[in-house]
Amino acid sequence: MVKVSRIERNSIADELGIEPGTELITVNGRPLADFLDWEFLTADEELAIEARQPDGQEVIYELERLDGESLGISLEPPSVRRCANRCEFCFIEGLPAGLRKPLYIRDDDYRLSFAYGNFATLSNVKERDIERILEYRLSPLYVSVHATNHDARKILLNNQRVPDIKAQLSRLAAGGIQFHCQMVIVPGLNDELVLEESLNDLWNMQKAVLSAAVVPVGLTQFSHLYTGRKMDRDTARAILSQVESWGARGMRERGETWVFGSDELYLLAERELPGPAHYGDFAQIENGVGAVASLRTRVAHGLDRVARREGQRIGVVTGLAMAPLMAPLLKRLARASSAEFELIVAESSLFGPTITTAGLLIGRDILTALADRHDLDMALIPAETINEDRVFLDDYTLEAVRESLPMPIFPSYDFIDVLESAASGVLA
Ligand code: SF4
Repeated sequence: MVKVSRIERNSIADELGIEPGTELITVNGRPLADFLDWEFLTADEELAIEARQPDGQEVIYELERLDGESLGISLEPPSVRRCANRCEFCFIEGLPAGLRKPLYIRDDDYRLSFAYGNFATLSNVKERDIERILEYRLSPLYVSVHATNHDARKILLNNQRVPDIKAQLSRLAAGGIQFHCQMVIVPGLNDELVLEESLNDLWNMQKAVLSAAVVPVGLTQFSHLYTGRKMDRDTARAILSQVESWGARGMRERGETWVFGSDELYLLAERELPGPAHYGDFAQIENGVGAVASLRTRVAHGLDRVARREGQRIGVVTGLAMAPLMAPLLKRLARASSAEFELIVAESSLFGPTITTAGLLIGRDILTALADRHDLDMALIPAETINEDRVFLDDYTLEAVRESLPMPIFPSYDFIDVLESAASGVLA
C-alpha cells in the first residue's frame, strides 16, 4: 500500500476526486508495496486502481489516459530500508551526538539507489528484490562494492552474512542492469592485491560497469568503530597508480577511462588533479570525483558573465582541503570583476581537524570565520553547507547566520552563480 500526499489541480486524479490521505492498494490487480510498484504499474494506459479513501471507504477508480499523461498523484515519502552492515568507516558512526535525528539514519536501499543515485551495498536485498530490479529494469544502480573479494568484503562491511557481490552483480548484469560502483579504500584491507582483484572483476563485467570511483576512507574524530590504518600520502599514491593504470587500459581498449580516483585521493597523494576531459560525463561528481575540474571549468566559462564590482571586498569561506585550489580561481574572478577577494579558511569545529571538506562546515564555523569582518562587502559560503530548507548541520538557519553577521552572505556552488548578478545572485 502507498499513500497519496498531494493531488495536482485539474489532473486526472483531481477529476476523479482522489484526495490526499487516500491509500492506493492495487493497480490492475497487482499489489502496491512502494513507489516503485506505483511508478511501473501505472505505466499502462488503462488502469483499475483499488483504493481506500481517508474515510475508510474502499473504491476502484477506472481510468484511461493518453500515453505520458500525468495522473497528478504525489506519494508520501517511502520508509527507507535500513543498513544491515556495521562498517568501521561508516560516516554516520563518525557523527557527533546531538545532531537532528534523520542524519543518523543508515539507509541501504536499492530503490533509492535507482531513484536518487544513493549508493547501496545490496547486502540486504532478497530474492524478491532481485526479481524486481530485473523486472522493472532498475538501471543504473549505484553500488558500494568496496571489494569483490568475498572475505575482504565481509570484513569491510563488518557483516558475516553479506551476499557475494560478484555473484549479485553478474546476475543483474546478465539481466541488462548497469552499475556505477564505488570502493572506499581502507589501507591494508582493500588496497593493493584486493583492489587489483576488484578492478579486474569489474573490468570483466564490461559494459555493465559504467564507472567506478575509488575513494579514500574518511574519518572524523568520532569514528569510534575504526581500527584500521589511516590513509597516508604514499598509500594514496599507490592506489592512484593502480587506478590510473586500469583507467589507461580502459581508454586504450574501450575508449573510456571508466575508473577514477576521487579528488580527495589526489589531494592526499599530493598529485595534480586531472583536467575535465579525464572525467567524461562526470558520472560520479556527487561522489567527489571531478568536482574540482568541473568547478574550474564552470568558473572559466562564466568569467565573461561576472558583474563589475569595482572596489568591493569579497570574502570566500572554504575548508582546508580546497584552500590551495581556490587561490588561482579567485585571482581570475578578481580580474573579471575588479573586486578584491579574500580566501577565508574555516575549520570544522564539529568534526575536528581531520575533516577539511568545505561542505561539512557548520553555521557556527561560518559565524566564527566572519564575525567582526566589517571590512567585507559580502561573503560567499559553500552552498553544500545548507540543506534544501536552508539549515546547516548544527541546525542554524541561513537566515539566523545572516542576521548575526555584519555583511551579506550568499551560498554559492561555483562563484559565478552569485557573482554574475549585480543584485548578488540567484541563490540569495
Ligand atoms: S553500508 Fe556501511 S557505511 Fe554504509 S550506512 Fe551501512 S554501515 Fe554505514
